[in-house]
Order: sequence, then structure tokens, then C-alpha cells
Amino acid sequence: MSDEQFILYERDGSVAVITLDRVDARNAQHPPFLAQLDEAFMRGAQDEEVRVIVLKANGPHFSSGHDIRYRGERGFDMNNGVAGMYAWEKENYLGMSRRWRDIPKPTLAAVHGKCIAGGLMLCWPCDLIIASEDALFSDPVARMGIAGVEFHAHTWELGARKAKEFLFTGQFIDAREAHRLGMVNRVVAREELESHTLELAHEIAQMDPFALYMSKQAVNRTLDTQGQWTAMEAVFDMHHLGHSHSRLVNEGDAISGMTVESMKKAG
Ligand code: ZN
Repeated sequence: MSDEQFILYERDGSVAVITLDRVDARNAQHPPFLAQLDEAFMRGAQDEEVRVIVLKANGPHFSSGHDIRYRGERGFDMNNGVAGMYAWEKENYLGMSRRWRDIPKPTLAAVHGKCIAGGLMLCWPCDLIIASEDALFSDPVARMGIAGVEFHAHTWELGARKAKEFLFTGQFIDAREAHRLGMVNRVVAREELESHTLELAHEIAQMDPFALYMSKQAVNRTLDTQGQWTAMEAVFDMHHLGHSHSRLVNEGDAISGMTVESMKKAG
């Protein structure tokens, strides 16, 4: 693998700013992208000067999802049953999203443009989501025969009924609807997204770090007590039942690459 940088990391006072920067692929997530993103989140988590972490994206879209064209680089044999893929996704998809969700500092995602499938696994683990008016969210993975992406936050983020519609149709919900449903904290103009998010991050950074940590943990533990993590682990297994089904029926699943291509055409 090359030393190309797909993730930028900067410090703005007590705020760490992580930027998705694989613009030519619309921030599709291949193994080096995810490894660098995880490294950046951990760097922000461990830096004692950092009190709040912001995640944002360069380019016209936040993220087109997982880049499954890079299967070969995941280091497992696709012909060796489900074992290798299951273990890889458990660590690199479900595991990373869970790790970011539990960083003991507030995390804010600034989302613009399209945020598709695996893209949700970058913003959902963050504590707050600020969306610009042009933001669009979807999880069209049912078209691959699979019950949504690896990190099943859908039911909590959208509510049960809307989560079903979201999964059944694969259609986009826009920033206003995401806000109405409680998935997004604030909707701002596209040109104000970065400044608004940074301003809020700096405001939060004034609070006592331990109080922020405990406040975050209070909500996350409540979700876990409600069964969120147990459900996510169970749905992850169902997700792999879907992968197996898809491979048997279609000899492979290939929506992510298609999504990147169609998004490139759309700009
Ligand atoms: Zn998967």
C-alpha cells in the first residue's frame, strides 16, 4: 500500500479537525482510508490538549460508502467461506464505528452532499451531526440483498417505522427530514457548515472535560441498557447472512462501486 494520505488531521486550539480527503472517489472507504481515519480518531482521543473532535469531508459529497472494489487488499480469501470476511468486517466496520462512538470526548460530524450506506457509519458514531441544507442520507444495501450496513443504528437514529421505510426503499432522506426525525442536530447553509460546526465545537470545548465524558457516557450507557449494542451485534450477524445470500444468488455484490461511479457522473 502507498503512503498516500486519505485523511487529514489538524489541531485548531482544543479542537481536532479530521477531514475525509479521498475526493476523487467521493470519500469511498477502502482499507487504507479506514486505517488512517481510525488512527486520526485515536490521535484526537489520546491528545490531552484536544477536548472535542470534528469530522468533516472535502469534495462534493461526505462519503459514498464502503469501497468494496478493494476486497483483495482486505487480506482474506473471498472463496474461503464467510469466516475471513466476517472477521474483517467485525473489526474494520462494526468495530471501528463502535470504537469511535465510545471516544471519551465529544465528536461532531459536519455532513454535506451525499452520505450513502457506509458513510452513515462515519457520522452516526459521532455525538452530534450538523448537516448542510444539501445533505442527503441513504442506505440502499437492501438492493444487495442485505439488511442495511454493518452498524445497525437505523432503528435508533430514525425510529422503527422510518427505519423500515429507509431500508425497504433505499431512498434518500434530506437534511430537513433527518433533522425532524432527530438524526441531525442542526441544519445550516452549505457555506456555513464548517464555521458553524467549529464554533459549536469550541463552545463545547469550554466545558469541563470530565463532565463532557460522563455526559456522553450517560447517554451511551442508556442506549446500551436499552439493548442497542446487543441488537447491533445480532444485526451484524444478519448482515453476513445477507452477504452469503448475495454471493450465492448473484456471485458477489457490487453496489458500492456502482454508487461511486453514479455519484461521479452526478458530480
Ligand atoms: Zn458487509
